[in-house]
Amino acid sequence: MSTLLIRNGRVIDGTGAAPRAESVLVEGEKIVALGAEADARAAGRPNASVLDANGMTVMPGLIDGHCHLSFDEPNSNDELFNHRRHGLAAIAAAYNAKKLVRAGVTGILDPDSIFELSIDLRDAIDAGLCDGPRIRTGGYALWTSLGGTAGRLIPDHGIAGYGRVVSGRDEIVAETRRQIKMGADWIKIHVTGLVPRHPLGGEQKSWTLDELKAVCDTAHELGIPVQGHCRGAASVIDCVKAGVDLILHATYMDEHALELVIDKRVPVMPVFTFQANLADYGAAIGADATVREMFRLEISDNAAMLRRAYDAGVPLLCGSEAGFSITPYGDWHHREMEVFVRHLGLTPLQAIQCATQANAFAMRAVGKLGEIAPGRLADILVIDGDPSRDVSVLGQKERIRHVFIGGRAMDLSPLPPRRDPAGWRVVNYGARLGWDVAHGKAEVAHERIPDHEL
Ligand SMILES: [Zn+2]
Repeated sequence: MSTLLIRNGRVIDGTGAAPRAESVLVEGEKIVALGAEADARAAGRPNASVLDANGMTVMPGLIDGHCHLSFDEPNSNDELFNHRRHGLAAIAAAYNAKKLVRAGVTGILDPDSIFELSIDLRDAIDAGLCDGPRIRTGGYALWTSLGGTAGRLIPDHGIAGYGRVVSGRDEIVAETRRQIKMGADWIKIHVTGLVPRHPLGGEQKSWTLDELKAVCDTAHELGIPVQGHCRGAASVIDCVKAGVDLILHATYMDEHALELVIDKRVPVMPVFTFQANLADYGAAIGADATVREMFRLEISDNAAMLRRAYDAGVPLLCGSEAGFSITPYGDWHHREMEVFVRHLGLTPLQAIQCATQANAFAMRAVGKLGEIAPGRLADILVIDGDPSRDVSVLGQKERIRHVFIGGRAMDLSPLPPRRDPAGWRVVNYGARLGWDVAHGKAEVAHERIPDHEL
């Protein structure tokens, strides 16, 4: 069994505790001792390798609780639903998995995947066929025919992109069982969706309480947890009542919804990174001003409510929504921690706890992952900098010096450059070219999304 002593480092253990200067001893795939005991045990093992982490921070590898590893950074639902191919998507995902490791990510929960390919990628990584973070994954997201966040692209029946429409109790139960048979670690329900021209606006609850219960009862009987995408109070209330184990987004709750979440201590994963990136940097990429403002408001309108949940003991988990053109792989896995610090007022150490120890829940590995402690799996990040002062240093990849997964040092050498395979991206001609625009008599009019489509 290999032995590794990491000494002289500043250890952030993932529990929220202040950093300590101490040694960490790894044997095989686990952390076995800390501090003086680690030094003493290593002294008795002349073959132990020693890593001097002087000036660096030793911390649990980042866990990204919401990473769409199969999507390959589309900039529209059209591209994602209609321009992906099964084999190529799997090969691209295997490439992108290496980007995650180079960003210090040692575990992800992929909520749903196109072609359900993240199930295969998980098994391929576990089998040593390719390198990547530990993966926990759902199968297809479950939609009712009313849909999710892809409007009319969602069909009345069957599969599209990362989701599958289920109608009625029998189909709900059968599909939940099928996904569990195929090896899903989680079942994901798209509880709310955007309904074009809906009079109430915003995301609408598209499941009844009984339908949600049918998923939860079926999955729980087989020991599989359920996560629900929810925007709005009604969806959160029904999810808590139905027994959903993890609530995604959880924005626009009311007092009753918050009370239920607190009462049942249902973990919440806001997944604000996508919104934060568009709000803060969207102008640089030409994003529509209305959309930028809508996303900025989703964070500012809900930060206080989510903070109240956190203060009342609700676990708050970090997920990045990585996998879209706005959230490319490898660049933004730390970003949710920045949002938690800036908008929810968490300390950097509290935010790190959300992305490590608390996120072990997303990995279904509470007490096994996400901490620097004896008995935990040795998923370790060594970074030149002090994230306990500023979590933003975790976004600077050149500072990431070592990443271990299960005690194994990961290859951090630069990846060969890639291009997009033929037919992979949707070609955009640009803005509308009227005669007056062509002849300099009018400004270019950027397309504005009508309010009823938002
Ligand atoms: Zn997502």
